[in-house]
Amino acid sequence: MAKITIRAVLQQRTLKSITRAVGVGLHSGQRVELTLRPAPADTGIVFRRVDLPEPVDIPMRAESVTDTRLASTVSTGGAKVQTVEHIMSACAGLGLDNLYIDITADEVPILDGSASSFVFLLQSAGIELQKAPRRFIRVLRPVEVREGEGDNLKWARLDPYHGFKLSFEIDFDHRVVNATGQRYEFDLSVGQYARDIARARTFGFTKEVEYMRSKGLALGGGLDNAIVMDDHKVLNAGGLRYDDEFVKHKILDAMGDLYIVGKPLLAAYSAFRSGHALNNKLLRELLAQSDAYEIVTFEDTRQAPRGFGEIARAW
Ligand SMILES: [Zn+2]
Repeated sequence: MAKITIRAVLQQRTLKSITRAVGVGLHSGQRVELTLRPAPADTGIVFRRVDLPEPVDIPMRAESVTDTRLASTVSTGGAKVQTVEHIMSACAGLGLDNLYIDITADEVPILDGSASSFVFLLQSAGIELQKAPRRFIRVLRPVEVREGEGDNLKWARLDPYHGFKLSFEIDFDHRVVNATGQRYEFDLSVGQYARDIARARTFGFTKEVEYMRSKGLALGGGLDNAIVMDDHKVLNAGGLRYDDEFVKHKILDAMGDLYIVGKPLLAAYSAFRSGHALNNKLLRELLAQSDAYEIVTFEDTRQAPRGFGEIARAW
């Protein structure tokens, strides 16, 4: 008797229904509405500026990133969207491939300064499996970018890994940050993004905030959407959400920055004091070396890294 093997392809995912959010941009302080809509297989994640005379689509690609000061900004032609990293991180963490994000201004709302509101929105809309295999970028050999020397050194690298994990080290000489863990490793197959990473908020220091405001930046920022510290302590009444919230937010940012490449990575990312600029440089370095990666699908979910078939099980 012939043995029957049931193979389940690891499928692409989009949303089941439309969902909306309203908030303010961290830097612009401008009110903005987001509408998250299901998108067909192989669309990827596409921002659509619906406030312009003609709507403009901005697809997620490494080369769409045109500014990395303070946040990751993507653009097509003259149309841009700033601060995409937190919503992109939520999409990466929940394994969402295809999505239209209609936006009414040039900056994603900051909401609570973490990715948890986006996780809640996406989970509320539900997940739809699609009739196309998920395509991954599998890293085949190490790729690294470095900047500066001595106290200014920063680097980020990708190594081959059957799964996706991130290890990040920050180096802030501040008594509050010093008192917390400055290094953390998160493995998507083992940890839970929504529980372990998504709630970590962006952070800043009162001195910097005053300077940024004088430059017309961080106009929407405050204690509701960032951890704010003076020279000695955290000013937020509720304190920290995680003991090591700072480094966890850097991992959250890195997941978002890397997901801009358009497909999930199969790699081990590690970084020391990296940021939006270096994360994007790392993607470009990877794509510039065609022998450093390949595109793969899993015709049998059992061959995918552990947990990848169920990453969105909480949906
Ligand atoms: Zn951030």
